[in-house]
Amino acid sequence: MSKPGLFIFLLTCSCPSFAGGPLVLGGSAGTTPVTYQNPNITLNIESGDLNETTSNAEATALVLQALALWNNVVTSNIKLIPSQTQIEDIDINNYQTYLPNPGGTVFNANDNLNPVVYDSTGEIIDAFFGGDGLPGTQSDFVIGFAASIITVGSSYFDEGYAVINGKDLGLSSIEIKLLIAHEIGHFFGLDHTQVNINNQETDFGTPGFCKTNVQSAYPLMYPFVCRKEETLHQDDISSVSSLYPNASANNSPNPHIESRQRLIYS
Ligand SMILES: [Zn+2]
Repeated sequence: MSKPGLFIFLLTCSCPSFAGGPLVLGGSAGTTPVTYQNPNITLNIESGDLNETTSNAEATALVLQALALWNNVVTSNIKLIPSQTQIEDIDINNYQTYLPNPGGTVFNANDNLNPVVYDSTGEIIDAFFGGDGLPGTQSDFVIGFAASIITVGSSYFDEGYAVINGKDLGLSSIEIKLLIAHEIGHFFGLDHTQVNINNQETDFGTPGFCKTNVQSAYPLMYPFVCRKEETLHQDDISSVSSLYPNASANNSPNPHIESRQRLIYS
């Protein structure tokens, strides 16, 4: 049985430029940044391979490194904890046991799993984004997505999930790790950030994607795959620290290509 809830489904958008912050506002007045009530969040990683060249162990090592990026922010108390046991291989045949259905009528938000899914064929992404599996389909561009589910009026997420595209899209292991960290950021409630970047970046003109600043200036939570550093940007650090402040820290306010550069996070 699923709770009545609001399915938060993340898509990139052409929004005004904004610094990182909460993905969802909730609570009785609709003004409370929605978070996980307990900042110690257990995720269940599936046991299948990412794809034919990246084994489950290799992919899971990247997930653990991605979680560590967030866990190591000293001004935040968030702790993303991988389960000691892994859940079964999740693919197009059984994903609706673990994820919300693409129609948003079933949530699977009370099974205590928070699954991390390796979509080795891209079929799950196509099911959600309307792809047809043919060349140029959605899973040729969308390299991952994540969401969490809230009950309407709540200030807290119930549960969530992350899906990582396993198709060979020419990403390096570092880029895959950063992708996973980006999706996990959405999972626990962070929105995209475009701080200090020209938000008119475009596929068809100037400035092109990832071209308005040095790559180290792009936050991890930028909507496109631009950052290459295996670190969080200060804006990412400030954002997670705002949502999940460490009580012992001084909570300062949130301050303010190549073909694969067209790949979008969701
Ligand atoms: Zn995103």
